[in-house]
Amino acid sequence: MMQTASLRLERVERHFLQGESRLTILDQADLAISPGEMVALVAPSGSGKSTLLHIAGLLERPDGGDVVVNGQSCGALDDAGRTAMRRAAIGFVYQFHHLLPEFTALENVMLPQMIGGLKRDVAAERAHALLDYMRLGHRTKHRPSELSGGEQQRVAIARAVANNPFVLLADEPTGNLDPTTSNYVFDAMTALVRQSGVAALIATHNHDLARRMDRAVTLQDGKILPHTL
Ligand code: ADP
Ligand code: MG
Repeated sequence: MMQTASLRLERVERHFLQGESRLTILDQADLAISPGEMVALVAPSGSGKSTLLHIAGLLERPDGGDVVVNGQSCGALDDAGRTAMRRAAIGFVYQFHHLLPEFTALENVMLPQMIGGLKRDVAAERAHALLDYMRLGHRTKHRPSELSGGEQQRVAIARAVANNPFVLLADEPTGNLDPTTSNYVFDAMTALVRQSGVAALIATHNHDLARRMDRAVTLQDGKILPHTL
């Protein structure tokens, strides 16, 4: 029997109107990612990587086609259903950490869990475990402004997987970091993906990192195609 993909995009369409003309960003785009699989998304600026990640992350609706998360079709969900699915099943990491500045690292990782209904002490225990795993056990009480760029991204990654999502989406997560830090953050993210079995789609311009993932895809004329690096 075939294993259920954690994330599946089925004939996804996305168009933007630019003045009189219609810009096609995604044109019958298909993709399936298995549990524990890491897929690099490597394509030039402006080709639609962020658009694709937003649609996969249920932040934006496609104009056609469907997003299927762990076997569940999201096309028919209303906004509340999409939000619930996003919170429970999807983690997102951005290029800039987007942590809440007035909260500590620990609290930033606790919050999504508490929004998901977990009690404070349960959320705190898991947040401690995740931050330890990201080698940030000594930084739990720091606020984002008191952390280095690499540390901020590691907290953001811990937060993204705090609710044990099926899918981890990252939009150039090491794009703001120097090469050494970038490597370190990538290694930490890889360890988490392997250990948790989350399916990861990671947009990056860094070919060295892309080569270390299971496979790479690119965007060409709105299609998702295998990519050789
Ligand atoms: P990438 O992340 O690969 O750089 P994006 O997904 O951000 O690409 O953008 C792809 C294309 O879609 C770009 O040409 C961009 O200008 C266009 N685009 C993205 N969002 C919108 C929008 N909301 N309205 C109009 N055009 C958009
Ligand atoms: Mg982008």
